Formats: sequence, structure tokens, C-alpha cells
Amino acid sequence: MCGIIGYIGKRKVVPVLIDGLKRMEYRGYDSAGLAYIRDGEIVAVKSMGKIARLEQQLQDVDAESHIGVAHTRWATHGEPNEKNAHPHLDCTGRIAVVHNGIVENYRALRKYLQKQGHRFTTETDTEVIAHLIEEYYKKDIPFIDALTSALLQIEGTYGLAILNADEPNKLYAARHGSPVIIGKGEKENFVASDAAAIIRYTNRVIYLNEGEVAEVTDDGFEIFTLRKDRVKPEVQKLTMTLQELEKGGYPHFMLKEIFEQPATVRNSFRGRLNLEMGTARLNGLKSHLDVIEKLKRIVITACGTSWHAALIGEYLIEELARIPVEVEYASEFRYRSPVLDDGTAVFVISQSGETADTLAALREAHNQGVSVFGIVNVVGSTIARETDAGVYIHAGPEIGVASTKAFTSQITVLALTALMLGRRRGIVSTERGYELASHLAKIPEKIKWILDSQTANIKKIAEKYHKKNNALFLGRGINFPVALEGALKLKEISYIHAEGYPAAEMKHGPIALIDENMPVFFIAIDDLMYKKVVSNIEEVRSRKGKVIAIATLGNEEIRRYADDVVYIPETDYLLSPLLTVIPMQLFAYYTAVLRGCSIDQPRNLAKSVTVE
Ligand code: GLU
Repeated sequence: MCGIIGYIGKRKVVPVLIDGLKRMEYRGYDSAGLAYIRDGEIVAVKSMGKIARLEQQLQDVDAESHIGVAHTRWATHGEPNEKNAHPHLDCTGRIAVVHNGIVENYRALRKYLQKQGHRFTTETDTEVIAHLIEEYYKKDIPFIDALTSALLQIEGTYGLAILNADEPNKLYAARHGSPVIIGKGEKENFVASDAAAIIRYTNRVIYLNEGEVAEVTDDGFEIFTLRKDRVKPEVQKLTMTLQELEKGGYPHFMLKEIFEQPATVRNSFRGRLNLEMGTARLNGLKSHLDVIEKLKRIVITACGTSWHAALIGEYLIEELARIPVEVEYASEFRYRSPVLDDGTAVFVISQSGETADTLAALREAHNQGVSVFGIVNVVGSTIARETDAGVYIHAGPEIGVASTKAFTSQITVLALTALMLGRRRGIVSTERGYELASHLAKIPEKIKWILDSQTANIKKIAEKYHKKNNALFLGRGINFPVALEGALKLKEISYIHAEGYPAAEMKHGPIALIDENMPVFFIAIDDLMYKKVVSNIEEVRSRKGKVIAIATLGNEEIRRYADDVVYIPETDYLLSPLLTVIPMQLFAYYTAVLRGCSIDQPRNLAKSVTVE
């Protein structure tokens, strides 16, 4: 949440900052702002709303400045208005701060600073940082010392980029809990929350570690701890390409990402399936396999869509590897004093690898002395670096705020993990392993079949129901979490109230909601529970609910019960979530389009939730 960027170098700074902000807009988009240094003074420009508005405000400005910082906001403290937009300045207007995170002790600091005579002009937590640095920045005190002294007073989290008008050739950055990278260019350097903001200019980056501060000039940088010990930087090369960050002809990133899934699921299992042996190989976990295969219990923790993937992982691992699994919301896990005894390990799942609650859960598990393994998309992210080992899902950058391709890739990796453990523990036979592996290998073409042949049908269904105010999503077994995900997708981007339930639970409450205005999605594929699901469909129909069935290709009978049918090809029951979720993603997408919603940047949401 929130994107910060800083630049120093040969280019004019404003276009670099605006371009960087646009690439990070998915991280937050309620307001934006930037500051640069010109003729020894700081010039700050802020705007409410999306970055396009800030850009418009700056269109006649051709600032001859080569150093600046910028921010796209997802407000935590203080209304999302122009005044509260970053950058925030000190009393003199000579220190400018952009911040990702939360200053938890800001009330106490603000009170103290007010007593010292500082005047505050915003309601944000961030503003205290600018004044606190100002407070320490006295004659003969170097700015870096004032900065580190200030940071030592701050409780909470921050990713920061900072300007000091007295030093027009230096940019400062700091990190504690929120990601910050330094991009290394030729006669120019960058600071950013996210590689997407700078990949256009450089692929050489340095990830700041917790509690590090950087002093950046146009031809170099130095990194220190808060105690001023010098840190040796490690330069890494990014594999991300600019093309991956473009819409590629699609009207929205979300649609592009839905249509990428045949390729992204394939990327998740590429080189990891061993058909002959009916198993999977996950190099990331290799050195810990002896421990993992003997586990007595696995706790998977995650948030949002990743939490739904975790629930599917529970079905997969319990079924194939017979290791008991518990799934926990990371935000609950971290404050619940969970029992993590010997023989337990924690798996954390996060697309961004920066999710604050998941990261805190990881650290809580480490504090309790258990191993933590990660399933992460963003290479080099904090969670990827702090886990003991893990598996990248290789879905490529996901920009749409509503997660789609990361979800199917997470399931793919969980299926590989379950298969591998099942084989190693002697629970899955070679034949069964072969069967599953070959089914998985065919999933990409089956997703493609759904996208090619069912999209028009789903669009029509969306036309029929897009004005409704509620929807129910029902599934059983391993498709129950898919029902949760279908409801979440619809809520997130179309703002329709939706609930996901295990189909059989409906009669214990939600059935009271059903009338002719309630569309009900049923995952009714040909599995062991099919007949039971049909009975649940009948229960809805007899109360005049509208039924949309997601059924196995070839099942004509279901048309008798459902108002609309979307078909998916047959696959192994355990892999069916990889197919049943696709129609739900498309339905949410087209419904939101018809309702005129902002698809890639739904209201109140942001991707990469780096605050608690
Ligand atoms: N706490 C800061 C604000 O509300 C930054 C928010 C964030 O990083 O999401 O402005």
C-alpha cells in the first residue's frame, strides 16, 4: 500500500516521478503528490484522486530539477484529501517526506513536537516524521544523524524517501517494515517501493533491509544501520520486463491477467513435474524436505485470496499427504498466541511477499522457534527473504488489485507440494501420482478452453444479473473455498454484496435470503457430491432463487435445474478449483464493467497490503 519513489540524476525529475507513480498506482490511489528541489527550495505539488489528476496539474510545469520524491497514497491516518496527501513538510518547508507505513506512536510524538513549537498542518501520522527530523537537525548536526535520531524514536512501520533542501545533491531513504529498493543506474539512482516503478530505467537493484538508511547521490549511494554502521550493499538483477507491466491490448490488467492463466499456471509447474515418477520436485524446499515430510502438523497462514488458496491447500495436503493442516488468517494468528509445538511448521502465502499481517505472522512463528516456508510471487520480497525456504509461484507481476492469476498459481504450487509430500510419505502410489501429474499438465489447455468457449456465455449471465444487489456462491469439498473466492471477487470489484458458503450449510441460515432477486452460483461438477449439490439446487429453485451452475462439460441434465450453465472440462477432483474459479473471475469482471466500476483500482482497496 502506498507507493514511494525518489529520483536523482541526469533526467528532469517530474516525468520520472509521474511515470513511476503510475506503475505503482495499484498500491494506493486516493491521492498523490511530489516534491522536487529547485534553486535551493522545495516545491511540492499534491492532488486528490488518481495520478492522472496530479499529472494534469503539472502539465505546464517544465521544472529544471533533477532530484525529487513522490507518493501515491492509500490513507490510513487522515482523510484522503489534498492537504493530507504526501509529501509532508517540516515547519521550514525545507524537509520533504514520503512515507509508506504507519507511525504508531504519532500522537505522543505530535504532542511533544507541538510543545517544542512545531506547527502541524495535516491530520496524518506521517507529518511527525518531517518535524521530528527538523527537531534534531540543528547547527553542526549532519542531516543523516538527525534522520537516524528521528527514526529511532518512531514506532510502527516505514518505507521513506526524503529530501533536504540544504543538500540538493542527495536523496535519503529508509526502511522498517515497508519495502524499499534502490535502483542503480548510470549517473542516476532511484528509490522505490516496487521494482515496477523503475524497471524502465534499470534492472539492477538493492533491497534495503530492516532498519537501514541510504544516502543516495547521482553516482552512488551508501547504506547504514540506524546506529550508523556501514552496510555492504548486494546488487541483484531483476528479471521483470516492461512488457509484463503493460496491458498488452486488454482494456484492464484484470482481464489480461485472467487470460494469462494458461501460461501462468504452466509457469508454476514448469520443470517441477516428474510424470514418470508421478511426483513433483520443488527445489526451493529441497534442503528442508527431510523435516517437512515428517511434520505432524502444518499451519498455513495468509490473507484475502491467498487465504482461500490456503484452504484449498488444506484439502490437498490432508488428502494426498495425510498431514493435518490448519488454516489461519494471518491477522488473527499473530495475536492469538498460537500453539506451535515440535513437529509443526508454518507455511505463509502472499502474492506480494510484503503483506504486513502475513509478515508479522511469519515473525511470530519464528519467535516461537518453528520453521516457516513461503509461497510467494514477488521475487526478492520481504517474506521470500525471511522464510527458511520456499517456492516462487512464477505468475509474473500481478497489477489488477483483484487477484486472479496469483490464485491459480498458488493452488498449482500447493498441489505440487501435496503431491510431492504424498509420494515421499508413501501415501500416493506411482500410478495415482502419474494420474495427478498428467491431469495437472493438461490444466493450462483446459483453462484456455473455458476462456475461449465460455466467455461470451459468462458475459451474457453478467448482463442478466449485474443490477442485483446480492449474490450467493456455493460449493462443496475442495470447491467450497472457490465459492468464497467467487464471492470475494464480486465484492471487491463490483461492490455487490456476496457470500460464499459450503452448499449444504445454506439451509442453516442463508436460505432465508433467497427469493427471485437472488442469483446463486453453484459449483456442481461431476464429483462424489454432485447428487447432493443438485438437491441443494432444488432447494434454491423451490424458493424462486436464480441458479447459475458451473458444471462438467457433457452434463446436459443440469440444464433442467439451472437457469444458466457454464461448462468446464473434466479433470481430477483435486485439481478442479483451477478450473471452477475461472468463470467466477470472468463473471466478477464483466459485472463490474457493466456497473461502470474501476476494475483495476476498486474503491478503498489497494494491492500489496503493507499496513496492518
Ligand atoms: N500512514 C500514511 C498515511 O496515511 C501512509 C499510508 C500507507 O502507507 O498506506 O498517509
